[in-house]
Amino acid sequence: MNPKYEAVIGLEVHAQLLTESKIFCSCSTKFGNEPNSNTCPVCLGHPGVLPVLNKKVVEFTVLMGLATNCKINQQSIFARKNYFYPDLPKGYQISQYEEPICEHGFIEVNPKNGSSKKIGITRIHMEEDAGKSIHDQSSATLVDVNRCGVPLMEIVSEPDIRTSEEAYLYLNNIKKIVQYLGICDGNMEEGSLRCDANISVRLKGENKFGVKTEIKNMNSFRNVERAIDYEINRQIDLIEEGEVIVQQTLLWDADANEAYPMRSKEEANDYRYFPDPDLLPVIVDDEWKTEISKSLPELPETKYKRFISDFSLPVYDAEILTQTKSLADYYESVISITDDYKTASNWVISEVLAVVNEKKIDISDFPITAVNLGKLINLIKVGTISGKIAKEVFALMLQDNSDPEQIVKDKNLVQISDTSEIESIIQKIIESNQAQVQEYLGGKEKVFGFFVGQVMKETRGKANPKLVNEILRKMLR
Ligand code: ADP
Ligand code: ZN
Ligand code: MG
Repeated sequence: MNPKYEAVIGLEVHAQLLTESKIFCSCSTKFGNEPNSNTCPVCLGHPGVLPVLNKKVVEFTVLMGLATNCKINQQSIFARKNYFYPDLPKGYQISQYEEPICEHGFIEVNPKNGSSKKIGITRIHMEEDAGKSIHDQSSATLVDVNRCGVPLMEIVSEPDIRTSEEAYLYLNNIKKIVQYLGICDGNMEEGSLRCDANISVRLKGENKFGVKTEIKNMNSFRNVERAIDYEINRQIDLIEEGEVIVQQTLLWDADANEAYPMRSKEEANDYRYFPDPDLLPVIVDDEWKTEISKSLPELPETKYKRFISDFSLPVYDAEILTQTKSLADYYESVISITDDYKTASNWVISEVLAVVNEKKIDISDFPITAVNLGKLINLIKVGTISGKIAKEVFALMLQDNSDPEQIVKDKNLVQISDTSEIESIIQKIIESNQAQVQEYLGGKEKVFGFFVGQVMKETRGKANPKLVNEILRKMLR
């Protein structure tokens, strides 16, 4: 990127809320049902019907507002956003416009080389989703309105983001927060979390913002980063060539790795918003707000900082362990059994996550319970088994979550830490490998490894490696 310029970025994020029923009717929100079966006169937009607000949608959105330091407005208003589209039978989308439910919040991000930074949140509002047009299943376009009325929460950021990395971190924090709150599954690939990026560039030191474009249709975190970088460079190149930036909406094409403009007809934004006369103002009084705030869990950022300060974990470990609430919970259960925090972190991050990722399962379906993993770590800590044998025990535990103490007993895996026992094994090895002894004594340091290997072979890996080293050094003189 040309260093004379800086980018200005604001994100609009839509999160699909995990309610059982839709926002204004009792139809199911279940994904994958027969097309047009999750419907009723309300979400089909028949005339004369009345929407009834789903209380859960308000509670979920207020939770998000509280989690992102927003002011929760006592009163907020639903508005009609009018536009025509085949998958929007009513001809308008119910959203919030002038008086949203949450405003003026922020989310902290921690870029790799820089201090932490607050990204402002302008507003969070509630709205309904539209249906889906399906173009690839017949020669005609099919419409499935199951998604009409599925509740969404839209989070609009201030233009505070300066790089694609900050955008990524901001979005990832939103994902973590909604998952911790249990209000959205946060899956970008499946569309339950969607992001539109508004981007402009300006010369460094310039106060005024440049003309922005908006990129849509990025369905992964990686694509958000790539699309933003692409657009920043495109705008800088245009300006350098003396051209002007045209305000427009672009669609990201992940395969071509470029963005192309939407047809201007599709982006004519004249929504003629007006308050929806069918819906009363939403009132969230202090009592209700307090009630909702009681279900706020410890948030990812707080947990991350606590893992560093209380367990002395490196930033890297804390970041990975707090990525999801279930993983953080698992780790905390492990360290309720053992106080070897760093070893526990190493085991969870490398051994546990390797299996979880390979099997593509959630940590909650991981076969080894936190208690048993904690016990295994304690067996290493007190010297009952070596780290190497522990890997073997771990592999056995994976099969049926059996108790590591039992496995070690049954398979006779207890580490040999008896000095005289190790000495006598070494003595025998020295006697029958005189050629190697001479080589070692002649200065061939490498041969030392051969002796360690022999001891391990003789003890089937059970000899305490530290003792073996010490005693070998002593005896090979
Ligand atoms: P619009 O009216 O075009 O929807 P808004 O003012 O509602 O624009 O802002 C939409 C998003 O664009 C917000 O996230 C905001 O932070 C961001 N934004 C506004 N102006 C700019 C700009 N000049 N460059 C980049 N982002 C911007
Ligand atoms: Zn319905
Ligand atoms: Mg806008």
